[in-house]
Amino acid sequence: MIGCDCAVCRSTDPRDRRTRPSIRIEIGGSAGSASPIASAVRSVLVDTSTDLRAQALAHDIRRVDAILFTHSHADHVMGLDEVRRYNAIQAVPIACFADAQTLADLARTFDYVFNPPRGPSGGVPQLAPFRIGGPFSLGGVEFVPVPIMHGRRPILGFRVESFAYLTDCSHIPDASWPLLAGVRTLVIDALRDFPHPTHFSVPEALDAAARIGSERTYFTHICHDLSHAATCARLPAGVELAYDGLVLDV
Ligand SMILES: [Zn+2]
Ligand SMILES: [Zn+2]
Ligand SMILES: [Zn+2]
Repeated sequence: MIGCDCAVCRSTDPRDRRTRPSIRIEIGGSAGSASPIASAVRSVLVDTSTDLRAQALAHDIRRVDAILFTHSHADHVMGLDEVRRYNAIQAVPIACFADAQTLADLARTFDYVFNPPRGPSGGVPQLAPFRIGGPFSLGGVEFVPVPIMHGRRPILGFRVESFAYLTDCSHIPDASWPLLAGVRTLVIDALRDFPHPTHFSVPEALDAAARIGSERTYFTHICHDLSHAATCARLPAGVELAYDGLVLDV
């Protein structure tokens, strides 16, 4: 937090140094291995956070084949311009998937990307936008959009096989619980201990995880109220705070 001297902001534990929420889903094994689907989608980014450039450098993300957007809040989209580098490396437009509201917001916020000037122009991300209308397949894997509420705004979580990512969530609608049945590894919003109008608190996130029945649960979108080590020490078995650079095999 800018200008904050609290214990978490001044912590020397690298897990307390949190950038904006985003994940990358790698399909078909580690980046260094010869993938049987090398020519297909294998690196899927969820959101283009404000910190995308620093995150990609820190974690050596060399390929992005597709981008999924959860919603259009600034912390989840403002790194979009950085994907120009992947266009340069890969020499093809990058498929972007979002709901109608988020696509409209992106088109307005990044007018120069979605309505580029005619004629040769360099330095603009090359994207192929798709409106999410239901489950879709990338790299031979089914991605299931999971409608969730972020305050009064409906946004999307995503399920991939036994993994689900529910960032920026304050309520799971009745119709979405069946989409989460059988999830074993869950990443879910838990902003702080106290209630918040647009994010789950720790107790609310624990309730949701218990109802889903996940074996492993990781909290994300954590604010500086929560120290990594001290919070993990009081969470139940199988639940911990996520941290920048965390890698999960699912
Ligand atoms: Zn602080
Ligand atoms: Zn948000
Ligand atoms: Zn957010």
